[in-house]
Amino acid sequence: MTTRRVLILSPHSDDTAFSLGGLLAKGSTLRGWQKHQLTLFVRSCHAPYAPELHGADAITAARCREDEVFCARHDIALRRLDFAETLLRGYPSIASIFVLREPEEDALFELACVAVAQAAAGFDLVLAPMGIGGHIEHVMVREACRRACPNALYYEDLPYAGDFSNQALDRFAASRLPNARCRCIDVASALDAKATGLLGYASQVVENDLAKVTAYSRSRRPAAMHAWRRQPDVGDAYPSAVEVLWGTDSALAMLDFPG
Ligand SMILES: [Zn+2]
Repeated sequence: MTTRRVLILSPHSDDTAFSLGGLLAKGSTLRGWQKHQLTLFVRSCHAPYAPELHGADAITAARCREDEVFCARHDIALRRLDFAETLLRGYPSIASIFVLREPEEDALFELACVAVAQAAAGFDLVLAPMGIGGHIEHVMVREACRRACPNALYYEDLPYAGDFSNQALDRFAASRLPNARCRCIDVASALDAKATGLLGYASQVVENDLAKVTAYSRSRRPAAMHAWRRQPDVGDAYPSAVEVLWGTDSALAMLDFPG
């Protein structure tokens, strides 16, 4: 049997660790898969917890090293594009990054679409951000993926998803990914490992940032009845911590969910 290949689309260097860190640390959901990541918006001037770094070259290099360590730990082959982040290409403030707008309004969108389509070719499955919170570069990657990969799965973007209620997250998914269904991954046993992975992004993440991520995992309850299936070993008890993926039934069926 040929090894199946999954591509994780990560708008920035830390998005995979934030949103899929539990799934990856747990290991069983993608056991046997060959894992790849494409980080798109790599050139950066944002390193809130590394004031000793000055200038985009030094900050970009540090963020790349953090991503390399995370991917090596999780046996992920890492590829990067050289797109610059918003603040390096004319967005005037952090707030402006989250203003509701169409992805086509960003000059890099068409290039991002081409890059995602090329990168996704030959993969059995692609995981992409949902764009929760409205970061324009997350929205661009979601829409580029929707154009190129009809059978992708979408992860709930952390830490942003931690700002929304269960109902708001369900409504967002229904509006952006019509007819998508969801599955919850039990990450209760992997939260400590996820935190360790996140703290490896030392220029981006400190201990205080972990509370929102953990609170999300412990309180996330999608309304859909099919979101959690019974596990033979624990009965039908809902797990105490989850990460959530959305997509078509055929895409969800590719992963090894319990039950
Ligand atoms: Zn991001």
